[in-house]
Amino acid sequence: MSHTASELLPLTGTVAPPDSAALAGALRQASADGTPLYPIGGGTSLDYGLPARAPGLGLSLARLDRIVDYPARDMTITVEAGIKMSVLAAALAEQRQRLPVDVPQAERATLGGVIATNASGPLRYGHGTIRDYVIGISVVDGRGMEFKGGGRVVKNVAGYDFCKLLVGSLGTIGVITQATLKVKPLPESSALVACRLRDHEQAEQLLAGLVASRTSPTAIELLAGPAWEDEPALEPIEPAQTGSGFGQLVIALEGTAVEVQSMTATLADEWRAFGVAAHVLPPERAESLWKRLREFPAAREGGQPHFAPKAPQNEPVPNAGLVAKINVPASRTIEMIRLAGEIQPDCSVQAHAGNGVIVVRMPSFPSGGISRLWIGRLQPAAQQVGGSAVILSCSQVSELTRQAVWGRPAQAAMLMEAVHRQFDPKNLLNPGRFVYS
Ligand SMILES: Cc1cc2nc3c(=O)[nH]c(=O)nc-3n(C[C@H](O)[C@H](O)[C@H](O)COP(=O)(O)OP(=O)(O)OC[C@H]3O[C@@H](n4cnc5c(N)ncnc54)[C@H](O)[C@@H]3O)c2cc1C
Repeated sequence: MSHTASELLPLTGTVAPPDSAALAGALRQASADGTPLYPIGGGTSLDYGLPARAPGLGLSLARLDRIVDYPARDMTITVEAGIKMSVLAAALAEQRQRLPVDVPQAERATLGGVIATNASGPLRYGHGTIRDYVIGISVVDGRGMEFKGGGRVVKNVAGYDFCKLLVGSLGTIGVITQATLKVKPLPESSALVACRLRDHEQAEQLLAGLVASRTSPTAIELLAGPAWEDEPALEPIEPAQTGSGFGQLVIALEGTAVEVQSMTATLADEWRAFGVAAHVLPPERAESLWKRLREFPAAREGGQPHFAPKAPQNEPVPNAGLVAKINVPASRTIEMIRLAGEIQPDCSVQAHAGNGVIVVRMPSFPSGGISRLWIGRLQPAAQQVGGSAVILSCSQVSELTRQAVWGRPAQAAMLMEAVHRQFDPKNLLNPGRFVYS
């Protein structure tokens, strides 16, 4: 079951303008009336951020979903922001190209939503984030004024880089109406190589080994916790010889068929030196595991049974109580996974270990509450090593304070607020949901 926009936001109504001119008109009207506005893409992440309190109008991007221009030979594409990520992927695939940013629920999620939330998934290690692909952007700000940044060629050098400003702004600087993206060729071949990890020390060794590896992975995923224990795609991998086992390491390799073959063999050799057997997943298992790797963070929404721990006696699977994201230097990944497991032993983890991005899913709300466990332990531990920890979603809405969701204010907070004031002086865009309230 998933939630509708009106269950997640205090909407008095929703409008779906047919084009950017009508959208700008709606924003000008709202600005004149002082009506808060909530941009809505696919509605997959509307609970991300602080809960919205002020009643306002939903502004759906559903009708702005066209491909404006696709000069495939230039490897760029210009699309409206409401385009579904799956539709974009299909259009690019026809030319054997892709936008290598993995998105859960791609049939619903829109490009505008991905830019606004600065989403990134397993491919981040090899391909970067959406920030690296937006080369032009069209936006309507909180006063209803249209502005553009960047352009339609890769070499954009003049003016302010508005594209970067919009990435991760959670719909508070302006409503994105159109974006130009650079794209990449689809790889000819790919493979997933996996192993089971005996303990933390072995995990540290293998991750350190990957830094010096002669292969160039596109994803380094470390999986731990009950959600992954019965993962069918990983079943053939023999259990850990000793100890209870720490989790699994999954490496993605991409390139030409020859490159992938050679990297697979090289990785197996490198792991053998650590006493670890590498398993190359057969294509159908690789495909099903990849899908799960992509979807894991989204299991927050109504709960997706295959990620939740097994419910006793066939009881309905509970929703995830808390999904959080920790960002730390990659070398601190294992340390943070250990701490999360210590705090909440039944949590499950997916770490983009090459980047130090760790998604933690707690199947039930932490019994000690957010203050003690989250603000008291995990957030400070992440901050101490120069990182951060944010809540992606939480079943107990009353616990979502600014500190709990966004952590300690960023050093640039005053600057961010000043920028926000310029574009949304009446604070009408997604009011109260982002770091500035
Ligand atoms: C828990 C969690 C984990 C996630 N993990 C990943 C991940 O690992 N990989 C990944 O790729 N993605 C991830 N995402 C992002 C998400 O899955 C979608 O990819 C995307 O961000 C949502 O798109 P949407 O169209 O459904 O946006 P919506 O849910 O409709 O909106 C999300 C936010 O973006 C704003 N917004 C939407 N459209 C616009 C627009 N045109 N202009 C301005 N603001 C807009 C909304 O106001 C809202 O605040 C995660 C999100 C969450 C909350």
